[in-house]
Amino acid sequence: MEKYHQTEFSPRTGRPSTQLTPLRLTGRHFPDLIPATEKKANPTRQCGICSRARDEREKKIRRGTKYYCADCETPLCVTPCFRIYHTVANS
Ligand SMILES: [Zn+2]
Ligand SMILES: [Zn+2]
Repeated sequence: MEKYHQTEFSPRTGRPSTQLTPLRLTGRHFPDLIPATEKKANPTRQCGICSRARDEREKKIRRGTKYYCADCETPLCVTPCFRIYHTVANS
């Protein structure tokens, strides 16, 4: 008995390189006032950038902001944090 070896031909499929760009860098985001609640007419939240920063004594910087990005659902100071958050990839 003669066996025929079937050589499987698998054409190399070029994998499409998906660029993982954070969504916040691709869209157009604008600062929005944090919507008022029943309890707070002018609510403030801790800024997502500032809360990660530390002062020279390694203490958390507590800084409230009235603004946030509705698309990112992240509270941010209008300046400079809003711009930093949306332009610096590793911020
Ligand atoms: Zn901030
Ligand atoms: Zn955003």
